[in-house]
Amino acid sequence: MLLTNYHTHFELDDGSGTLQDYAESAAAKGLSIIGFSPHAPLPYTNDWAMTEENCAVYLGLAKKVKKEWAGRLEVYTGLEIDYIPGKGGPSNNKYKSMNLDYRIGSVHSIMEPESGEELSVDGPVEDLIRLLERRFGRNAENMVDTYFNLEMEMLEAGGFDILGHCDLIKKRNTDNRFFDPNMKRYRDKALEMLKIAAAKDVVIEVNTGGLSRGAITELYPSPWMLKQCCELGIPLTLSADAHQPDHLDFHLTEAVKEVKSAGYREIYFFSEGKWRPQPI
Ligand SMILES: [Zn+2]
Ligand SMILES: [Zn+2]
Repeated sequence: MLLTNYHTHFELDDGSGTLQDYAESAAAKGLSIIGFSPHAPLPYTNDWAMTEENCAVYLGLAKKVKKEWAGRLEVYTGLEIDYIPGKGGPSNNKYKSMNLDYRIGSVHSIMEPESGEELSVDGPVEDLIRLLERRFGRNAENMVDTYFNLEMEMLEAGGFDILGHCDLIKKRNTDNRFFDPNMKRYRDKALEMLKIAAAKDVVIEVNTGGLSRGAITELYPSPWMLKQCCELGIPLTLSADAHQPDHLDFHLTEAVKEVKSAGYREIYFFSEGKWRPQPI
């Protein structure tokens, strides 16, 4: 089967290596298709997304690499775009003029109302603790609800093709330190989100990035969510959320097996402007 990866970061956001390094690594690893998806600029100071200036540089670089590899490797230009209520998201018109091949919609943060600061659920655990204490009075169930609510808002607003790491809220919940993802309330909320995803024209990515960075021991989405995705008929695609070129194919073959055991018989890949199924 074709191995693909549409979720990659590089030296102009929070990854390492150049786009050229990624293309070379993709070819060496036998990937047929690669997509670039650095973090789109954010409306607040941070150390992980591209600046507006670098975003323009990125678009130029991607165009060049695409041309250089034509006929040898399919290269696509994307962005991973954050949804931040009232401040921006994948549905913003500015992304339409960028001529992107695809967009990944992701929620990485929740606002802390006292300071107005966006606190990451993806970053250091201290940020999550600060968020829990200041916004949620240590009620982690409310935090989980808010996370999935933000994803549902993003799905309703649209403007993207791939829903990024749809249960990222579990990333810093090592040993169920803050909440139990097997609780009915967690599952009900996650399922509510998946039902909205099923009603929209989006593909959910099976993301191995939490594994490659040693943060979690399972995929995004969790195995039980993958089964639900299958029941709901949601198309899936493969993603390694690579932050370095040698992680491009991390755990992808194993992820396909997990997708299969969730009930799927096909997985989707994006090529020449279309999502296409391939048997697994
Ligand atoms: Zn992400
Ligand atoms: Zn990412």
